[in-house]
Amino acid sequence: MAKILIVEDNALNVKLFCDLLAAHGHDPQAVTDSRLALQTAHEFEPDLVITDIQLPHVSGLDLIRMLRADEQLSSVPIMAVTAYSARGDEERIRAAGAQAYVSKPISVVRFAQTVDELLPKAGAAAPADEPAEEHKAEEPPPPDIGDGESA
Ligand code: MN
Repeated sequence: MAKILIVEDNALNVKLFCDLLAAHGHDPQAVTDSRLALQTAHEFEPDLVITDIQLPHVSGLDLIRMLRADEQLSSVPIMAVTAYSARGDEERIRAAGAQAYVSKPISVVRFAQTVDELLPKAGAAAPADEPAEEHKAEEPPPPDIGDGESA
């Protein structure tokens, strides 16, 4: 279970994202006014921030830059969600400091997948006792039968 902060001004999307994340066992918290996003993030200490890009007051891009510049929050993964994906948008969003980008209308599967990819894996340490995958030797060719020549 991860704490996920949602910054989104559209109430329907807030509900959709929250329901989706809760259904995946996460603990979502939403903020609809981007001016409150940074302070809310400080208090909530999210494992992931999902932010809309088209936000009144503080734009999603500005918020991403503010998070990246914040001592406490600079390493929190950020997933951007945007309705308008013009050419170059993804580059701008990534350059601002977001790790992932999902366009609206969202695909529920892709949304959930991207969230999973961004969250630190539970028990992320690779199990050391897992045997290396062995490649079976190719079956030897069947012996020639009936050529009469025995070795
Ligand atoms: Mn919006």
